[in-house]
Amino acid sequence: MKPVLALVGRPNVGKSTLFNRLTRTRDALVADMPGLTRDRKYGLGRGADRPYVVIDTGGIGEGLEGVAEPTTEQARLALAEADAVLFLVDGRAGLTVADQQLAQLMRTLNKPVHLVVNKTDGLDEDSAMAEFYALGLGEVHAIAAVHGRGVRRMLENVLAPF
Ligand code: GDP
Ligand code: MG
Repeated sequence: MKPVLALVGRPNVGKSTLFNRLTRTRDALVADMPGLTRDRKYGLGRGADRPYVVIDTGGIGEGLEGVAEPTTEQARLALAEADAVLFLVDGRAGLTVADQQLAQLMRTLNKPVHLVVNKTDGLDEDSAMAEFYALGLGEVHAIAAVHGRGVRRMLENVLAPF
């Protein structure tokens, strides 16, 4: 069985960009507009030593009425299906209240959760990661989904137990 990785995080952190990089497609909708990916989207992951399945989800924890609910449900379904969760946050925006609320949800899952700090291109990795250790989710992975920086190393770590 291929391990299933769910990409979860508040809107606009770069989940779809990472999905496209991992699956080498442009299928997932990428946009500046938060909340655009409303459904779960499945892809076959590449770029690691073994195959895996990736699920892109719409953001959870967004404020828009009528958009937040279905995406929340989709994200919850994806979380239920996942063998491991990639919890994405935005290294440029920094730690937000929505991230903290999601971290609470992550702690209730009985599965491995990896905190991934995206958009670290042009940033000092260590200082970009520093504030996110406060979420108490253990090790932090710094990546730049647009360029692929740190993605392979993160994947090796995430897939190692499977
Ligand atoms: P999603 O809502 O979490 O799926 O986020 P998207 O993948 O749609 O990306 C939201 C915005 O962030 C887009 O404008 C992306 O181009 C941008 N973005 C995604 N990854 C990176 C990254 O590694 N670095 C930078 N600078 N921007 C990124
Ligand atoms: Mg998206």
